[in-house]
Amino acid sequence: MKINIQGLVRPEIRTLEPYFVPAGNYEIKLDAMENPYDLPADLKKTISKKIKGLAFNRYPDAGAVALRKAIAGYLKVSADQILVGNGSDELILAILLTFGGWGKRIVYPVPTFSVYGILTQATGGIKREVFLEEGFQLDPRKIMKEYPDVVFLAYPNNPTGNCFPKDEILEIAEKSRGIVVIDEAYFEFSNRTFLNQLYEYDNIIILRTFSKAFSLAGLRVGYLVANPQIVKEIAKVKLPYNVNAVSQAVAEVMVKNIKRVNKTVDLIKQERAALMEELKNIVTPYPSETNFILFRCERAQDLYAYLLKKKILIKAFGETYLRDFLRVTVGTPAENKKFLLETKKFLRGKNA
Ligand code: PMP
Repeated sequence: MKINIQGLVRPEIRTLEPYFVPAGNYEIKLDAMENPYDLPADLKKTISKKIKGLAFNRYPDAGAVALRKAIAGYLKVSADQILVGNGSDELILAILLTFGGWGKRIVYPVPTFSVYGILTQATGGIKREVFLEEGFQLDPRKIMKEYPDVVFLAYPNNPTGNCFPKDEILEIAEKSRGIVVIDEAYFEFSNRTFLNQLYEYDNIIILRTFSKAFSLAGLRVGYLVANPQIVKEIAKVKLPYNVNAVSQAVAEVMVKNIKRVNKTVDLIKQERAALMEELKNIVTPYPSETNFILFRCERAQDLYAYLLKKKILIKAFGETYLRDFLRVTVGTPAENKKFLLETKKFLRGKNA
């Protein structure tokens, strides 16, 4: 019997494009904002010991109590304000399952992190995309005109690298009758946060991740911070054992060693400044409060392809309105040097 599978699929899924992850062999991977530094040997030792003590036959702690306590200590909030997810991606889905869905208006700027749009569509919400202004600035009135049930704002924004002005975001939180998600995935690089505003604005949810500054992209841990009432509601849709025992244990060690984490953050920030200076001489880079730099250049797609041939992976945006832009993650000094060398070679070749 032949079944028309397409006909069985929900219409919003039929037209959905999956999140694109390039496959292949790269020597230098500067596409996904990973921390280029793996954990120091002594921390790995502590972690190995902890992992050895885990009972792999048992489910992980569904409430991630120890990890939430450690995060609460780091942020100086209470543990019932925190929910841990399998990456912050999973929490974006949980937020949308709780506050989005059929008939709900989900608003976010463009360009921004593509998962907001993908999961809005997957959960059946109404996507309302608001283009950023000149210099990738936000117009809060345009956001409010969309009568949002949920607003997503990455702070700093991916892929543009800038933070929108705090008072403009607060204006949205103040006027909105819905939820305002402030995604601080790059907080450790920007040092700017809305944590103190959680007590004034009941509708704010802050998202954070262990994938960037904390060097744990491979373990998939993220968390949200909000008022306990919000946390309680979202916890209803969270999968019971969403964060595995190893990831919980490792993330806990890393939060308790935030000083070590901040050392690599400082290194990356220094490298970002050096990379920015070099890029200014050859392309048009945009200011960044993150661990990546967005830049505009001629024949961006060709440069991307050229770098791929040299086994260097950065990020291109296809035939979108960012087609003339590329985004590079700040790597180690050696990686950045190689990236710059090849980029210069390409640009010189073009002028020859
Ligand atoms: N938010 C933003 C703004 C991001 O750029 C990313 C990763 N690219 C994420 C969330 C997802 O992070 P995680 O690895 O925690 O799912």
